[in-house]
Amino acid sequence: MSDAAPPALGGEREAPTRSQAARGKAEEGRMRALSLVGDRKIELVEMAAPPAPAAGEVQIAIKAIGLNHIDVWGWRGMAFAKRKLPLIVGVEAAGEIVAVGPSPDPSAPATGGMTLKVGDRVVAYGGLTCGACKACREGRDNLCENVAGIMGFHVDGFARDRLNMPARLVVPIPPGVSFRDAACAPVAFATVQHMLFDNAKLEPGETILVQAGGSGIGTAAIKMAKAIGCTVITTVGDDEKVAKAKALGADHVINYRTDRFEGVVRKLTVKKGVDVAFEHVGPDTFNGSLLCLKRGGRLVTCGSTSGQSTTINLFQLYLQQYRIFGSFGASIRNINESLAKMASGLTPVIDTEFALADFEQGLARLETRQVFGKIIVNF
Ligand SMILES: [Zn+2]
Repeated sequence: MSDAAPPALGGEREAPTRSQAARGKAEEGRMRALSLVGDRKIELVEMAAPPAPAAGEVQIAIKAIGLNHIDVWGWRGMAFAKRKLPLIVGVEAAGEIVAVGPSPDPSAPATGGMTLKVGDRVVAYGGLTCGACKACREGRDNLCENVAGIMGFHVDGFARDRLNMPARLVVPIPPGVSFRDAACAPVAFATVQHMLFDNAKLEPGETILVQAGGSGIGTAAIKMAKAIGCTVITTVGDDEKVAKAKALGADHVINYRTDRFEGVVRKLTVKKGVDVAFEHVGPDTFNGSLLCLKRGGRLVTCGSTSGQSTTINLFQLYLQQYRIFGSFGASIRNINESLAKMASGLTPVIDTEFALADFEQGLARLETRQVFGKIIVNF
C-alpha cells in the first residue's frame, strides 16, 4: 500500500486568470480565491467553484484562515520549494461542510469514516498524505512517505470560498470553539502540541524557555506549558510585549534587545538551566538556547526565521547530553488535541483580523514581527 496514489482534489485545477477577476461580481458556479502569481504578489481572482464532492470527499465553505510564517516564506519566494504558480495560498483554515460525497467503496484503502454531515464545522489537515504508508497507518501523518505536498505552499491551499477535501483529512470543531480560534488549530496549535508533548515530552513542573513568546506559536507554547504547571521563561523584543507575555502567565519575560537572555536564564535557574528550550528563531538564538539547557535538556525547533545555518559545539552537545528535535507539522491527533484544549478554554491569542482582500497586509505585519499572537483572515 505504500505506493498508493495521493488523494485527488477533485476539479480544482483550473488556473485562475486576471481577466476573470476583472469581471467583478462572482457569477453562478464561480468563487473567489487568493492566488500567488509571483514573489510578493497575491491577487484576488475568480475561478470555477468545485464540482460536487466525489466519493470519500466533503465540500467545505471556508470561514477563517490563520497566517503562519510558512505563508511569509511562500509569499517571499523560496528557490528550493517545488511548486508551480499561480498557487492558491492559505495553509490553515476553518469552515463549514456544505456538501458530502457518496460513501466510499468500503474495500478502498484510506478513504476514512464518512461520519461528517452538511452543517458540520470543521478544520482540515493541509498535508496531502497518502493515508496508506506505515507512518500514516500509525498516525504519524507528518512523516508520511508519499506526501503530495503542503496545501497553500506546494499545492493549492485554503484561501478560496469552497474546496473539496478527502474526509479522512477533515476534523470536526468541538462546540463552543469559534471559526476564528479553530483556524489556528491545524498548523499553529498542532505544531506546538507536537513539539512540546510528542517530541520534547514536556512534563508538569519542568522549566521551559520559549523563544519569541509574542509570536503565534510562542503565545500558544506559553499557554500550553502554563496549563500543565510548568515554569515559563520567555523572550520578547519590546517592553510592551513584556507586559502582554506576563499577562498570558509567563513567569519571567526577557526583553532580548536590552538583556542577554542566556545570562538571565542562568541567573533565574540558579545556574542549573532549563529542561526544555522551544526554538523557532534560528541562528540568532539557537546556540544561546542550547546554553540555557540543563544537562540532558531537550531543545525542540520548528523554524528558523533568522537564517538557515548555524554551527554547534559538538563537545558541548555530547558532554551535556542534549537532545535536539527537529519538528515540522503535526498529526491529525495533534489537531484533535489542540481543538480539545481550545474547547476547555485554552484559546489562541489573536493579534489582528483582516478581510480577504487584505491578506498581504496580514503577511507584511507578520513579516515585521510586530505581532503578538495570531493573524486571522476572515471570509
Ligand atoms: Zn502516508
